[in-house]
Amino acid sequence: MQPFIVDSHCHLDFPDFEGEHEALIARAKDAGVQLFVTISTYVSRIERLKTIIRAHPEVYASVGTHPLSAGDEPDVPTEELVRLAEGDEKIVAIGEAGLDYHYDKAPHDVQAAVFRRHIAAARETQLPLVIHARDADDDMIAILEEESGKGAFPFILHCFSSGRGLAEVGVALGGYVSFSGILTFRSSDEIRSIASDVPMERLLVETDAPYLAPPPHRGKRNEPAFVRHTAEVLAEVKGVDLETIAKTTSDNFFRLFAKIPDPRHA
Ligand SMILES: [Zn+2]
Ligand SMILES: [Zn+2]
Repeated sequence: MQPFIVDSHCHLDFPDFEGEHEALIARAKDAGVQLFVTISTYVSRIERLKTIIRAHPEVYASVGTHPLSAGDEPDVPTEELVRLAEGDEKIVAIGEAGLDYHYDKAPHDVQAAVFRRHIAAARETQLPLVIHARDADDDMIAILEEESGKGAFPFILHCFSSGRGLAEVGVALGGYVSFSGILTFRSSDEIRSIASDVPMERLLVETDAPYLAPPPHRGKRNEPAFVRHTAEVLAEVKGVDLETIAKTTSDNFFRLFAKIPDPRHA
């Protein structure tokens, strides 16, 4: 039997996939990857995502401003995020939002202000916040702790590539940790070690396609089918079989993305 694997984070609206959605969803299903969340990076481009989720029953979307887009749309109010998310049954998460000091495209205070408005939207809607954190561990930990103190909000540390301290704080605050193809790279011993310590009931997998293809596709365009490689490596790291990782990460996914009906129980 095919496993049921979810790609919890991909970017199907990127030009890399233009005109190819049908084919890449079919290839993903052949690999056991059955459901997808296409993640928003610009609120101003939400109509592109809506077109995709209208056309494909197994694709859902989020709404938010990526930290690398924060300089381009620094002013989207919390109410707008809430309105867009609550206005569409297939918009199921807030984000991706967060802090990226690696590329550093927007001033840190602008990134933080945009991020906090997304946190407020997640707190209000109780939809999961998809968090992007890169080279910003200390500020991310500080904001997560401070904002959680104002009232809990569900969240995912997506494409985890930060230090152990951030993973531990995330888990302690009730968050989930999602691993991408980075988990499979030869140089990623530390990330695998962190993954081995994240509790089973807080793990997710994702591609972040078109970025970060896992071997044997490394360096090429990534696509949702390849999340199976990440799931296989995660199974090894946790010392379980692929079926167990597929089931556990899917159970976690549907608990967190509570707006999505679980098709396994249909
Ligand atoms: Zn990201
Ligand atoms: Zn992303």
